[in-house]
Amino acid sequence: MTDASLSQLTSGAYEQALKVIESVEPRIAAATRQELADQRGSLKLIASENYASPAVLLTMGTWFSDKYAEGTVGHRFYAACQNVDTVEALAAEHARELFGAPYAYVQPHSGIDANLVAFWSILANRIETPALKKLGAKNVNELTEADWESLRHEFGNQRLLGMSLDAGGHLTHGFRPNISGKMFHQQQYGTDPETGLLDYDQVAAKAREFKPLVLVAGYSAYPRRVNFAKMREIADEVGAVLMVDMAHFAGLVAGKVFSGDEDPVPHAHITTTTTHKSLRGPRGGMVLAQEEFAADVDRGCPMVLGGPLSHMMAAKAVAFAEARRPEFQTYAQAIADNAQSLAEGFLKRDARLVTGGTDNHIVLLDVSGFGLTGRQAESALLDAGVVTNRNSIPSDPNGAWYTSGVRLGTPALTTRGFGHEEFDRVAELMIEVLSNTQPGTTKAGEPSKASYVLADGVAERVQAGADELLDKNPLYPGLELS
Ligand SMILES: *Cc1c(COP(=O)(O)O)cnc(C)c1O
Repeated sequence: MTDASLSQLTSGAYEQALKVIESVEPRIAAATRQELADQRGSLKLIASENYASPAVLLTMGTWFSDKYAEGTVGHRFYAACQNVDTVEALAAEHARELFGAPYAYVQPHSGIDANLVAFWSILANRIETPALKKLGAKNVNELTEADWESLRHEFGNQRLLGMSLDAGGHLTHGFRPNISGKMFHQQQYGTDPETGLLDYDQVAAKAREFKPLVLVAGYSAYPRRVNFAKMREIADEVGAVLMVDMAHFAGLVAGKVFSGDEDPVPHAHITTTTTHKSLRGPRGGMVLAQEEFAADVDRGCPMVLGGPLSHMMAAKAVAFAEARRPEFQTYAQAIADNAQSLAEGFLKRDARLVTGGTDNHIVLLDVSGFGLTGRQAESALLDAGVVTNRNSIPSDPNGAWYTSGVRLGTPALTTRGFGHEEFDRVAELMIEVLSNTQPGTTKAGEPSKASYVLADGVAERVQAGADELLDKNPLYPGLELS
């Protein structure tokens, strides 16, 4: 089918769907229309967001949502799951092929849920199963209260080593206030204070001293690649399970931009991910695992997760089918190339980047040189139609709320077709905003970390510059709603 006839079909589908929604709750139909207009009209640089294809979006809105399907393919706690079985089996098959993984579990509802399944299955595989053997029990039903007490002690004394939040790790990698920081004794590794780069010697030294059950690799705000072969060596040396959370960069793995030592899947015991970030699928999560963990991961629902979202598994299957096409590799390479262009655009205009650049899809801009906090920068940029999110930088003097950085990512605008020149212009427009923004004051006249003053006319000028780029690279080209 041609692109033109496909977009005509898509326009028709949404036009009709919105009419149906309007007949029940017009305000939701209106908000849905407005959301499309807003997304079309702004430069989306949020590193964790993307635009899924109409095929993926349409797959989400079906009667598969109405099914309960606890259990696994062919082994359900509910009747009449034959079509859900088809969907889940196909999504898992596409995922295994796409990532070269021995086993794929496509039920997790989100990235955080995928991590919970991974933690649970590591505890079950490495603690519960050996403990049952030692106690001479076949399954947990045979345990006495005293056995449970000793098992609780075993579970509750496990250790996890992950990347610290301010170095770019995720909340679920052992951050104290998160459940992962409460159910594990946790320690964190950081980055080199001089270079901002991951310091493998530091990771190894901490691992030798701390002896974690789980070594977590992966990040949300680190603008560099990771050598997962090295991380596995460290894990093996101390007998840890290597868990890689590729939530952010799964698209670069799927598109073979990260291969060899940079491909986590062959090196990790368990790999978790979201499906909606650089992978460009529906909002959701997934766990990939080596065979030895498969049976434990399979019990994710109902041990950790609520009933699977069959409509979302269907959409995952469609997205993975898209990612298996050769065009996806071109897209993934463009994400990385565009991040280079964006970084160069800042560096040549004398802005400071954490680690001095990027070799993935993230650029972490240090805005302290403009005399601003991340919070002020984020707000001023938003006034000009540039959507980013503030982010702390290593050893951030402004803490996790106000921060000193702005995190940028290229997946979304690359989907719209932006290339080298467009990203250079994006850097130029952002610099125009930041260099024309002054920190504001509180009502009492004190210096403020939140309020700011953007010079007259800048927001309009930059929005006009952004509109030029956006009009040339439309979101969902051909999709027209009356
Ligand atoms: C985004 C992200 C998650 C969480 O994903 P949700 O779908 O929002 O739950 C987990 N881990 C990492 C590394 C992430 O970047």
